[in-house]
Amino acid sequence: MTAGVGVRAGFEELYGYLPEGVWAAPGRVNLIGEYTDVNDGFVLPFALPQAAVAAVARRTDGVLRLHSADQGRSRHGDAARGRVGDVVELAVEGLAPGSVPGWAAYPAAVVWALREAGHRVAAGGADVHLASAVPMGAGLSSSAALEVVLALALAELHGLGLGREQLALLAQRGENDFVGVPCGVMDQMASVCGTSGHALLLDTRDLSHRQIPFDPAAHGLALLLVDTRVRHMLGDGAYVSRRAGCEAGARALGVRALREISPVQLPDALRSLGDMELPGAADADGIRRCVRHVVTDNARVLRTVELLDAGDLPAVGPVLTEGHASLRDDLRVSCAELDLAVASANAAGALGARMTGGGFGGSAIVLAGRDTAGAVGDAVARAFAAAGYAAPGILPVTPSSGARRLV
Ligand code: ADP
Ligand code: MG
Repeated sequence: MTAGVGVRAGFEELYGYLPEGVWAAPGRVNLIGEYTDVNDGFVLPFALPQAAVAAVARRTDGVLRLHSADQGRSRHGDAARGRVGDVVELAVEGLAPGSVPGWAAYPAAVVWALREAGHRVAAGGADVHLASAVPMGAGLSSSAALEVVLALALAELHGLGLGREQLALLAQRGENDFVGVPCGVMDQMASVCGTSGHALLLDTRDLSHRQIPFDPAAHGLALLLVDTRVRHMLGDGAYVSRRAGCEAGARALGVRALREISPVQLPDALRSLGDMELPGAADADGIRRCVRHVVTDNARVLRTVELLDAGDLPAVGPVLTEGHASLRDDLRVSCAELDLAVASANAAGALGARMTGGGFGGSAIVLAGRDTAGAVGDAVARAFAAAGYAAPGILPVTPSSGARRLV
């Protein structure tokens, strides 16, 4: 709520009048199910307490003004106030994929996607001032938080009557087609649908979803996020090549997506890939590894849901650690810092841990007993110092609410 008041005041200072409202949309952590969303599979994210907060007012002259308190912080110092960094001013009519450089592409993408979806009112434009507590580039979906907060604000202000899935799909379309990042829909769905004390079981094939009770504190447990401070570049070749590996595997196995292969079918599937000439595949072994990761991680999501439904939260720990091994050894999207975060947390008595997000940096999630979490965090920090890595960010988190109006 206080964030809402500060952002409202920042809007007034910046634009000289009061916004029509203030909205929040959280970042997310994926508990388990990595790269499954781009294979029509299951994921199990939850919403973070950290959110993007946006103060918004509609315009009618086709001008979109965007300002983030988090841009230019180092240059100007006082980021909580409105008058920091530059206001980006755009003509809605001129919005086209690739036309907006930098951070403003994310909110502009939402206006573009609304316009493309036939919501003409969005073309009137808006004034936006925002601030976000979601760390950028840490694998916690600061980008989806930005998109979703603006999508919700504009949908409510214009009375568009969009449902939760429609909002998420709109935001995803913006990120895919306007910004040019080939993300799945998990991030946006988690930011829209998050519920405190729950994780969201999402079937990315049809977007059906179920809230799964997940309240570690009520079970004497705690969750820690370890931000390795290593910044991923999802646009770079590795993410694209893993997706391509999955698609090549699905094609070779004659299924639409790898989610259709069950763990029981996996040994046969891997054997048949071994015998096959894979046309154009530079690395048949890489494709087999992608297939094995996706099929086993999809099963780990369902196993985790079973455990959460049964209230056996401690047993989730080893499933997380198994998931990490699969991402490290099969999909090969981890990095030395993530591996150290997981190994040092587990050595210090955590119940389990894994990298979360696209990999190559970003964050790891750790499940620990409430009484050991502090020592686990200290042990991870010590291990990073001993390895000569930058100090990690260690953040206790708890499954929190999704996008909502604040003021
Ligand atoms: P992630 O979503 O994992 O945090 P991405 O690379 O997908 O990482 O998105 C990060 C980008 O989103 C930033 O580089 C920036 O362009 C934009 N962004 C996120 N939060 C903010 C913010 N508070 N202000 C301005 N831009 C932001
Ligand atoms: Mg992102």
